[in-house]
Amino acid sequence: MERTLVMIKPDGVQRNLIGKVISIFEEKGLRVVALKKVKLSKEQAKQFYVVHKERPFFESLTDYMSSGPVVAMVLEGEQAIKRVREIMGATDPKEAQEGTIRKLFAIDKEKNTVHGSDSPESAAKEIPFFFSEYELL
Ligand code: ATP
Ligand code: MG
Repeated sequence: MERTLVMIKPDGVQRNLIGKVISIFEEKGLRVVALKKVKLSKEQAKQFYVVHKERPFFESLTDYMSSGPVVAMVLEGEQAIKRVREIMGATDPKEAQEGTIRKLFAIDKEKNTVHGSDSPESAAKEIPFFFSEYELL
């Protein structure tokens, strides 16, 4: 069984989509093993997205990600990392497939409602960013 870190981004929390997004993952058989609502500081957002620090959208992305609360969760299932990425859809909602979370809900390619770890290495860093061992049930 694999675990992955998912975040409902500020646009999703702000538009009251927490329940809908979690339902979609649960309906696809993923299990919530940890869950919390937090507001990232600008510094924490920069740390979380440090791999993108040279990208032109880094300032805007980290301003946005620290602009309001997010919901972080750890989801578990067979091939959870890959399946979560498929269920989320492409980064840009214009390119996302029908039925994906980003096609359904994303505003644009920055305010795209959800994050999911992109590899086992990313998940191994992102899960402890939000959760300690005793919170992973
Ligand atoms: P995430 O890492 O959030 O799950 P992703 O893996 O689909 O999304 P990345 O390429 O890792 O996409 O980009 C991280 C985030 O940065 C995107 O989800 C989006 O919020 C933002 N982003 C990516 N590309 C752009 C862009 N060209 N312009 C504005 N924001 C962008
Ligand atoms: Mg990514």
